[in-house]
Amino acid sequence: ASLPSNLNCVRVEEMETEKAEDYVDPIRNPHSTDPELIQTMAYEALVWSSLHGFVVGDRNSQRSGKVPGVGLVHAPFSLLPMPFPEVHWTHACEIAPIFNELIDRVSLDGKFLQDSLARTKKVDEFTSRLLDIHSKMLEINKKEEVRLGLHRSDYMLDEQTKSLLQIELNTISSSFPGLSSLVSELHRMLLHQFKHRLSMNPESIPRNYAVNGFALALSKAWTEYNNQRGVIMVVVQPEERNMYDQHWLCTVLKEIHQVKSIRKTLAEIEAEGELQADGTLVVGGEIIAVVYFRAGYAPTDYPSESEWKARLLIEQSDAIKCPSIAYHLAGTKKIQQELAKSEVLERFLENKDDIAKLRKCFAGLWSLDDSSIIKEAIERPGLYVMKPQREGGGNNIYGNDVKETLLRLQQQQEAGTNEDAAYILMQRIFPAVSPAILIRDGIYHKEQTVSELGVYGAYLRNKTKVIMNEHCGYLMRTKVSSSNEGGVAAGYAVLDSIYLV
Ligand code: ADP
Ligand code: MG
Ligand code: MG
Repeated sequence: ASLPSNLNCVRVEEMETEKAEDYVDPIRNPHSTDPELIQTMAYEALVWSSLHGFVVGDRNSQRSGKVPGVGLVHAPFSLLPMPFPEVHWTHACEIAPIFNELIDRVSLDGKFLQDSLARTKKVDEFTSRLLDIHSKMLEINKKEEVRLGLHRSDYMLDEQTKSLLQIELNTISSSFPGLSSLVSELHRMLLHQFKHRLSMNPESIPRNYAVNGFALALSKAWTEYNNQRGVIMVVVQPEERNMYDQHWLCTVLKEIHQVKSIRKTLAEIEAEGELQADGTLVVGGEIIAVVYFRAGYAPTDYPSESEWKARLLIEQSDAIKCPSIAYHLAGTKKIQQELAKSEVLERFLENKDDIAKLRKCFAGLWSLDDSSIIKEAIERPGLYVMKPQREGGGNNIYGNDVKETLLRLQQQQEAGTNEDAAYILMQRIFPAVSPAILIRDGIYHKEQTVSELGVYGAYLRNKTKVIMNEHCGYLMRTKVSSSNEGGVAAGYAVLDSIYLV
C-alpha cells in the first residue's frame, strides 16, 4: 500500500536499470536509482513534509483555501536537488543587491515610469489603474521615506550559450520564501539519511535563508515605523491555497521578532480601514506599520471598485508599503524591457562593473513597435515569448500563438488600434533538459525537466540610510520540459533546491 508510481514511468525505469547497473549517479541520473530506494526516500520525504509544515491547501478540499488546518497536502517537490553550476549561483547572489538598488532608483523617477508605460496605459486597463494611483501620488508630492523591497529575480540557464539569463524580476508578492526554505532542508535531510546509498554531500545544497531574511527585513521595517502598537498587515486573497508559505513568514515574525501581523483582504481593508489626519492607516482598530502585499498583483484581485479604493487608501497612508505603487510599476515587464535598452541602466547606476554584471544576464527584450523584430518573430515564433503586463503565471504566449497574435496585432494596427503596446517580446530561453523525480499528491513521476532559479533580495532604506540590502535565499522550480510555464501554485512546477557543482 505504498506509493503507486506512474505507469508509463515503470517501463522507462525497467529499461534504464539494465544498462545502469554498474554505476548509478543519482544526481546526474536520478531515474536510474534503485526503485526500492526511490520508494523509501519518497516515503520519508512525505512524512517529513507533513511534520514540518511543507504543505499547501489541497485543491480537492473545498475549504482548504480559507480555513487553516483543513485539507492540507504536501507541497509538490523534486525528490533530489538539481545540479547547478556554482559560478552562476554566485553571480545571481552577487547581483541581487544591485537589482535592489536599481529598483529603488527607478521607483524615484516618476517620469520614467509614467513615460515608459504611457503607450501601455492606453490599452491595458489594469496597468492604467496602477498608473492612476501613481499619478495621484506624484500630484500630491507623496514621499516614501522608508522603502522596503522584497524581490525575487528569476533566471534560466541558457543551454547553448551557457549564460544565466533573467526571466523577470518580481517586486510584488514574491512567493515561496517559506516553502523554498523548507525544501532545501528536506533535501539535506534525505542526503544525510541515505548517505550510504547516494554518496552526495548535503553541504553542497546552499542553506536557504529566504524566510528568515524576509522576516528580518519586515521586522526592521516595523522598527523604522517606530510605533510599538503598530502591526504588519499581510494583504491576502480571499482564498489562498498557498497560505502556509505566508504563515511561515508571520510565524517567524512573531516567534523570532515579536512582531504581530494580521491578514486582510483588499475588500476588508476598504470596509474596515481609515486614514487618520496625520496619515496613520488604521484597519480594524490596528495601527498599520507595514503593508505586505501577497495579493493585488492581478486584475482578478480587484473585482470591484472597493479593492481599488483600498489600494489607494494604503498608498495615501504613511504605512511602509511592500511594495509601494512605484516599486510595483518598476517590476513590470515593460520596465524590464526599457531597462534592457542601451544606455538606460546608466541613467540609474554609476558603477560600470555593476552595470556590466546586470547586463550580462539580460536576455533579448523588445517592444512591439520594432518592425524588424516583429518580422523575425513571425518567421521564427518558437524563438520568442510574448508577455503582457501580468503576474502570477499562465499569461504568456508561446510558439505558433506568437505568430498568430503578432499577425492579428498588425491587422489591428492598420485599423488604428495600439493593442501591441500591451505586450513585450522576449527571446525564448532554452534551458538544458535533465531527468528528475517529481512528487505530487504522494505519487512520484519520472520526468524530463527544466528548472528556473529565483534569488530573493531584501532591501530596506530610510531616507539616505540603507539599512538592509542583501540577497537572501532562493527558489528553485522544476517543471516538465514540455510545459511552457513554470508556476508552482498554478500546478506546472514543483519546488526544488540546488546542488552546487
Ligand atoms: P510571471 O510574472 O507570470 O511569473 P514570467 O515572465 O515569469 O511571468 O513567465 C512565466 C513563466 O514562463 C516562467 O516561469 C518561465 O517558465 C516561462 N518563461 C518566461 N519567459 C521565458 C523566456 N524568455 N524563455 C523561456 N521561458 C520563459
Ligand atoms: Mg512575475
Ligand atoms: Mg515568473
